[in-house]
Amino acid sequence: MAVRHVIVTGGSRGIGLAMVGRLLSDGFLVSTCSRQYSSSLRELLEHPEYQSRLFFRTCSIGESDEVDQFVEHAIGAFGPIYGLINNAGIAQAGILASFPNSETENILKVNLFGAIQAARAASRSMLQSGQGGRIINIGSIIGLRGYNGLASYSASKAGLDGLTRALARELGRREITVNTIAPGYIDTDMSISLSKKQLAQIIRRTPIGRLASADDIVNCLRFLLSDGAAMITGQTIVVDGGITC
Ligand code: NDP
Repeated sequence: MAVRHVIVTGGSRGIGLAMVGRLLSDGFLVSTCSRQYSSSLRELLEHPEYQSRLFFRTCSIGESDEVDQFVEHAIGAFGPIYGLINNAGIAQAGILASFPNSETENILKVNLFGAIQAARAASRSMLQSGQGGRIINIGSIIGLRGYNGLASYSASKAGLDGLTRALARELGRREITVNTIAPGYIDTDMSISLSKKQLAQIIRRTPIGRLASADDIVNCLRFLLSDGAAMITGQTIVVDGGITC
């Protein structure tokens, strides 16, 4: 079987970086983007085993032309796309009554519109190749349950669940599955604003007794990318140690 090409958006830090590293060590061709380079990504780009299988281009997800160009260049580098991981995301907290509309616009533009754009561009490649494929949206338990002060972020993540279900119906006959992974709280730059007290409370309420790690999300991702997950589509899979059960 040909080596499969997977796109991970937002691969410079956090969960996306963990995905890129693991998919490279699993043997995939990986294309990724973010607005800026990071030193960790640079290490992967210079790694003797990975440099020929990793493509990076700066791209602001949510900007139509940039997303189309990124996907086009990724296909130019590594050929048709097998998998798209819509991981790039931003969060901004604030009570909605005083939350600037510009912040809401930005959150929806990156988290939801950007994911739709990337899915549009990547699914074209999947349909043309006729080899099936995988689209995996990174949602959040906040999209399922809500959280005080995160209304716009929650709406953007709930929107991804709708995208997942509709696109799963649209693409299923072509053996392209579409799923959401909804992580619980993970220790990355995004969750840095949580206080020690909030983190301790989250851990206390989590049946497994710890925060999920980026690796926990990557493990679920690897399964959804595998041939063994061919019958799973249109689902939101929660990886949160049971905090929402
Ligand atoms: P981080 O903030 O650590 O990393 C976000 C990544 O996305 C970075 O690589 C960033 O790079 C990139 N990114 C952000 N905006 C854009 C953009 N407009 N265009 C291109 N790339 C962009 O976040 P996490 O790793 O924690 O989160 C990853 C995903 O997981 C997000 O979708 C998030 O909502 C979701 N999630 C996270 C949870 C957590 O607790 N951390 C819990 C549940 C879900 P750069 O800034 O250089 O563009």
